[in-house]
Amino acid sequence: MPSITLLQNATVLDVRSGQLLPGRRVVIKDGKIERLEPMQLEAPEARAAEAVTLDLRGLTLLPGLMDAHVHVMAWTANLRELSNASPHYNALQAARIMHEMLLRGFTTVRDAAGADFGLKRAVEEGLVVGPRLYICGRALSQTGGHADSRAAGETRVETVSSPVAFGTVVDGVPEVRRAAREEIRRGADHLKLMLGGGVASPTDRLTNDQFSREEILAAVEEAEMADLYVMAHTYTARTVNRALECGVRSLEHCNLIDEHSVELFLKHKAWMVPTLVTYQALAEEGVAAGLPKEVEHKIYLVLDKGLAALEMASRAGVNLAYGTDLLGAMHRRQLEEFTIRAQVQPNLEVIRAATLYAARLLRAEGQLGEVAPGAYADLIAVEGNPLEDIRILARPERHLKLVMKAGQVFHSAGLPQPIG
Ligand code: ZN
Ligand code: ZN
Repeated sequence: MPSITLLQNATVLDVRSGQLLPGRRVVIKDGKIERLEPMQLEAPEARAAEAVTLDLRGLTLLPGLMDAHVHVMAWTANLRELSNASPHYNALQAARIMHEMLLRGFTTVRDAAGADFGLKRAVEEGLVVGPRLYICGRALSQTGGHADSRAAGETRVETVSSPVAFGTVVDGVPEVRRAAREEIRRGADHLKLMLGGGVASPTDRLTNDQFSREEILAAVEEAEMADLYVMAHTYTARTVNRALECGVRSLEHCNLIDEHSVELFLKHKAWMVPTLVTYQALAEEGVAAGLPKEVEHKIYLVLDKGLAALEMASRAGVNLAYGTDLLGAMHRRQLEEFTIRAQVQPNLEVIRAATLYAARLLRAEGQLGEVAPGAYADLIAVEGNPLEDIRILARPERHLKLVMKAGQVFHSAGLPQPIG
């Protein structure tokens, strides 16, 4: 028997047109949206014995949110602690983090290092309650790069015998290819490269470029051979521009880009995934959340520039997706990225970055990121109009009334009891 859910009297946000469609019924069958129609039309499904009906009068129905840069394994901002902990403990922490993401309204997340095929399978089987998970496994980093967590005096590379870790250190084209193929073998949805220095890494400078062109090109080729793409950790214009010229499709952070970067983004139809909230969170509470004190000063190299970079890219029409990159206790701030971006972008564009555009980045347009026939019934309902006030999305405890993934309800607050 098919499962049928009817969402009645909803005001639907059509993220494509940017219009609010009042008085709509959404008919959901077997986890997918079958129809979207005015309430005046008769719905034969309403008479089916197994149909469940939810009345969304007064609420705005949106596609489930998508976060294109998360680390579901990062239960602490001290990544050393993570790689020394039991993989079982790490997995259980990831399960909690994913559950909390779903309850904030995120029905899809793209992991940017750490999550593996086991976590993805656990979500798909319903063993863990969480968003759809896109994974890259381990990020590829050069010696001394952003995923090389060794202090200067350490020589040993691997600190944990498990294949599951944040990063893997590889040098030279053959090692890059082998590591890329390993991640593809383990079910990667995309490959992740560390192409420049970072905040949390102990020995690199933030302005370093990492990996040679040959190494980057090799990874891009390996990804494309498997119909995947490369996402890369990048801050400076030099790093971003080099990555774009080598065919990297998804550029993360991008706080220090220049006008030429914008031209290259447009030329290559590449994606920029800013993660502004994480710098604010790191500056305010990073050390308390586990970030080593020695690297704290690096936050201030990127903190102030990110918003201007987003504004420049947005004005020029660069493809943008929502990202957060939060670690440890700072995960609770995942929705703050909406309010930060809305300082320089129209609310609708910020919402599209977390729905329609993110779906395009994940090559899942038509399936995710919109309330439309044929798409998965990944939906949220909020009280109020987020086109007028973006804070409605950022305060789920007050405004978020429904979270649904593949037609299944995971959160419903104050809704009339379902009929059926
Ligand atoms: Zn990064
Ligand atoms: Zn990250």
